[in-house]
Amino acid sequence: MSLSGRVALVTGSTRGIGLGIAEALAAAGADIVMGGQGDPAEIEQARAGLAARRGVRVLFDGADMREPEAVAGMVARAEREFGAVDILVNNAGIQTTAPIEAFPPERWDAIIAINLSAVFHAIRAAIPGMRTRGWGRIINIASAHGLVASAQKVAYVAAKHGVLGVTKVAAIELAGAGVTVNAICPGWVRTPLVEAQLAERAERHGQPVEHVEHGFLAEKQPLIAFTTPEQIGALAAFLCSDAAATMTGGAIPIDGGWTAW
Ligand code: NAD
Repeated sequence: MSLSGRVALVTGSTRGIGLGIAEALAAAGADIVMGGQGDPAEIEQARAGLAARRGVRVLFDGADMREPEAVAGMVARAEREFGAVDILVNNAGIQTTAPIEAFPPERWDAIIAINLSAVFHAIRAAIPGMRTRGWGRIINIASAHGLVASAQKVAYVAAKHGVLGVTKVAAIELAGAGVTVNAICPGWVRTPLVEAQLAERAERHGQPVEHVEHGFLAEKQPLIAFTTPEQIGALAAFLCSDAAATMTGGAIPIDGGWTAW
C-alpha cells in the first residue's frame, strides 16, 4: 500500500499513539502535518526524526485544540503549505479522573473541547477539500470508553461516546464523496496519558508500578497486554488503504477484549 502523494494531518502526534500513527502513515509515504503541544526541543526532535527516518515532509503546527479557530487554522495551513488534507486523524486527547461530584468543571470543559469539539471543528474544516478531490480518510481515535464506561471518567466517557456519534454522522454525509470516516477504539496503550493512571494506582496500593501493572490490565482486559502505538498505526494505515474503501461509520476496537466482556 502506498500513501505517496497524500497528506495526513494527525492531531496530538508529537508523542504516544499519535506519533505511532504518524510513523505508520509516513512509512507508507504520506507527508505529515504534526500537531501537539509541549517542550519545543522535544517536538522538533520528534518532527525532524520522523522526516529523516521516512524521507517525507513533516510540518509541525502547535494549534491549541481548545480553540476552534486554531483547529480550523491548522487544516487551512496544511492545505496552504502542503496542498491538501487527504487523511485527517483526530487523536489529541487528555484525561482527568475524579468522581462526578468532585470533578472540576474546568476539566470537563477542557476535555469536551479537546477530545470532542476539536474533532467536529477539524472535520468541518477538512470536508470541502476532500469533497473537491473526491477522496478522503477521516480516523477518529475514540477509546474503549467510547463504547463502555468506567467510574471517575465522566468527561472522557461522554466525549468519547460523542466522538462515535460524530463519526457515524460524518460517515453517512460523506458516503457518496469517496471519503470514509471511522473510529478506532483502543484499550490500554502505555503512553504518558496512561502512565499517570498507573502511577496513581501504584501510590494508592503503596507498591511499585511494576507490581500493579497486571491488576491494572486484568481489571479491564481479558488479554493481559498493552496495545502499542505501532499496532494502532498499522490499523490506521489499513483504514487508508483501498482494502478499507467500503469500511465507514465503524467503531473498531483494538482493546485486548475489553469491550467483549
Ligand atoms: P498522550 O498524552 O501521550 O498524547 C496526547 C497528545 O495530544 C500529545 O501530542 C499532546 O501534545 C496532544 N494535546 C493535548 N492537549 C492538546 C491541546 N490542547 N492542543 C493540541 N494538542 C494537544 O496521549 P495518548 O495516550 O497517546 O492518547 C492519544 C489519544 O488516544 C487520545 O485521544 C486518547 O484519549 C486516546 N486513547 C488513549 C488510550 C491509552 O491507553 N493511552 C486508550 C484509548 C484511547
